Amino acid sequence: MSLKKVVKVGSRFLGGNYPILVQTMANIKTSRVEDILKMEKDLSSLGNDLLRLSVLDEADAQAFKELTARSKTPLIADIHFNYLWAIEALNNGAAAVRLNPGNISDPGQMNQVIDAAFKNGAAIRIGVNSGSLPAHYAAKKDEAKAYADVMASYLKAFDDRGFSNLVLSLKSSDPEVTYEAYRLADQLFPYPLHLGVTEAGEGAIGAIRSCIGLVPLLKEGIGSTIRISLTDEPREEVKACRALLKGMGLADHVPVLVSCPTCGRTQVDLMRVSAIVSKHLEGIHKDIKVAVMGCPVNGPGEAKDADIGLAGGVNSFLVFEKGQPVKTLKEDEAIAFLLSEIDRLAKEMD
Ligand code: SF4
Repeated sequence: MSLKKVVKVGSRFLGGNYPILVQTMANIKTSRVEDILKMEKDLSSLGNDLLRLSVLDEADAQAFKELTARSKTPLIADIHFNYLWAIEALNNGAAAVRLNPGNISDPGQMNQVIDAAFKNGAAIRIGVNSGSLPAHYAAKKDEAKAYADVMASYLKAFDDRGFSNLVLSLKSSDPEVTYEAYRLADQLFPYPLHLGVTEAGEGAIGAIRSCIGLVPLLKEGIGSTIRISLTDEPREEVKACRALLKGMGLADHVPVLVSCPTCGRTQVDLMRVSAIVSKHLEGIHKDIKVAVMGCPVNGPGEAKDADIGLAGGVNSFLVFEKGQPVKTLKEDEAIAFLLSEIDRLAKEMD
């Protein structure tokens, strides 16, 4: 791992010793300003650091003016082909643009985008993906090298113009190729890396595929920002990113919910309870560990390092703290008590 150049993206910084930032991408049209701002606020409350927005037309590029004036999260314009929209988004306050230089082949046009980023103090994320590669490869290592080679060829135009406020991504849908490509990029380029496995798939499967590529990179200290691309709502991507960083000891102020898989001993609606507690924890930004377990036989013992938890009985729950029983309550009372205790613990940590 090599220490990366510090790059400013709006109010946030990437690279150097800055923490790894979480990012996602809105899944609605950018010109729907009020809906985007609502989404931005929700994602920010979950711990999202950077938000990317697609620019599909002139209206989207123009929308950046109002969006950047009202958003607390730095906004990144995602643009393919039309360099004028990139310039317009930058002039309207976009903290960065994400481009695939292969889609803006005219050097004069690319130079105008670079100049607009310079003028506005913005960053550019250069994204290489499988569509950028010139040929097929016999081995995954060869394919990973092709990603790095293409990136090196793209970087020349930026070097020539003295522009270095760059973030790089080399995403494959194959986790192993992604891993190899980022390792190479880390050795070759001084810029912060945006990690991600592209088109990873739905929900848990997509998160697993992402983790196969991202965990070894993060363990090696590679990566300045991550996105877990899921066929799901952006808030699920943010939650997955936060859980990954927390699980690897790379993020603080993230609660953990330990919940059992249920089995024949379960005599409560554990999935309902777990969903309610999980939702409540979305608004808690403290290092609290909560357990929701299906039975009193194994539950408290299995979750003894949880700050507080519930263990199901027969239509009731035993409340336990640090593995020790406190009291037994009916299901809804137990939920209400647990949520209020979570809030109390969070307040104590202020
Ligand atoms: Fe089964 Fe109890 Fe373990 Fe849950 S905690 S899986 S109910 S034994």
